[in-house]
Amino acid sequence: MKIMEPRFVDTIPRELEDGVLYFAMEYGTVLHKCCCGCGSEVNTPLSPTDWNMKYDGKKVSLSPSIGNWDYHCRSHYWIIENEVVWARSWSQSEVEENRREYPQVKIETDGPKKMRDKNLFIRIWDWLA
Ligand SMILES: [Zn+2]
Repeated sequence: MKIMEPRFVDTIPRELEDGVLYFAMEYGTVLHKCCCGCGSEVNTPLSPTDWNMKYDGKKVSLSPSIGNWDYHCRSHYWIIENEVVWARSWSQSEVEENRREYPQVKIETDGPKKMRDKNLFIRIWDWLA
C-alpha cells in the first residue's frame, strides 16, 4: 500500500517529492507527483466543484478520486487516509461521457463500489453520507 505524507506548505515547491501531498492552502490547491511513479505533477484544486479534503490532524483524504486522463499513464486512484487506493483506469469514451454528464465536475469518480475492501467501502460511505 502506497502512503502519501500530507505536508502543508506556504509556497509551492519547485520540485515535488514523491509520496508527498502538498497542501498549499494559500492557493487553495493540493499538489502531488502522480502516484504511479511517472513523475507527472498533479494539481487538484480545492473548491465545492473540484476536490474536497478531509483532514483529521494526521490523515488526509481527497474526494472525488483522481483520474489522470490527460497524462500518458491514465492512472486513477483515491487518496483515503493517506493511502493510495487504486481504481480502474477509464477508457477515453467513459471519460468523455462523464464530462458530458457532469460538466461541473472535472473528474468524476467511478465510486466506492469498485473497492474490494469492504471496510473501506463503509468508511467512504459514512464519509459521503
Ligand atoms: Zn502517472
